Amino acid sequence: MSILSIRGVSRSFAGRDGQSTVALQATDLEVAENDFLTILGPSGCGKSTLLRIVAGLDAPSSGEVLLDGRKVLGPGADRGMVFQSYTLFPWLTVLENVAFGLRERGLPKAQQLEIAQDFIAKVGLAKFAGHYPKQLSGGMQQRTALARALANGPRILLMDEPFGALDHQTRELMQELLLGIWEREKKTVLFVTHDIDEAIFMGSRVVVMSARPGRIKSDLPSPFAHPRH
Ligand code: ADP
Ligand code: ADP
Repeated sequence: MSILSIRGVSRSFAGRDGQSTVALQATDLEVAENDFLTILGPSGCGKSTLLRIVAGLDAPSSGEVLLDGRKVLGPGADRGMVFQSYTLFPWLTVLENVAFGLRERGLPKAQQLEIAQDFIAKVGLAKFAGHYPKQLSGGMQQRTALARALANGPRILLMDEPFGALDHQTRELMQELLLGIWEREKKTVLFVTHDIDEAIFMGSRVVVMSARPGRIKSDLPSPFAHPRH
């Protein structure tokens, strides 16, 4: 039984000259609970568009996305997104950033703090809860963004080149951190990267896309997946 079904999803963008760009064409994908999918492909092949549609931040031009058999109509706490550029609120501390979604949902203050502190500890930032993003390294900012995504209790983590801006050593630490969280917390992960090594190491299943128009070219189990798989 799929947790996520992407059925015949296409997305076109209208250009100024009246021409339209087909970012994604007739894409089908079935994702099982606890799958770790990596999505690989050249720039412009529709990877971000696909993730944004699953996140409910964009809508398909045709086709549909089903989550547990129900059509996705917008963003929800069942999906958490992590971007390459961290996208933290600079005027909020680590703790306030991570608690942000919980506050939006109207949870009592004490519960917000308890949940946020729990996830801040899980990403190894317990000592930095009172820091502001600009006081942190890139890796630590991305740990904060991961904690923020996890705090809302999503079943699916959508990650768009999350470690693309990090140096090699930090990237390896983050890969290990994410795989540990994925295993312990039983998440389903869709992880976009254009790094082939990262794709076959992190994913149990590697989806390769091609451009013009964006579509899935292959979808295979990884032969070199991390031992946690
Ligand atoms: P990738 O993430 O694989 O690099 P994207 O999903 O960002 O690819 O983009 C796929 C195609 O759709 C590209 O040709 C891109 O220029 C186009 N595109 C994406 N978003 C928009 C937009 N908001 N308006 C117009 N064109 C877009
Ligand atoms: P990460 O820990 O996410 O891999 P770095 O490798 O850049 O990020 O940081 C290594 C360590 O340096 C951190 O775990 C932290 O202990 C310390 N550190 C980094 N930035 C700061 C900071 N702004 N204030 C205090 N300690 C820091």
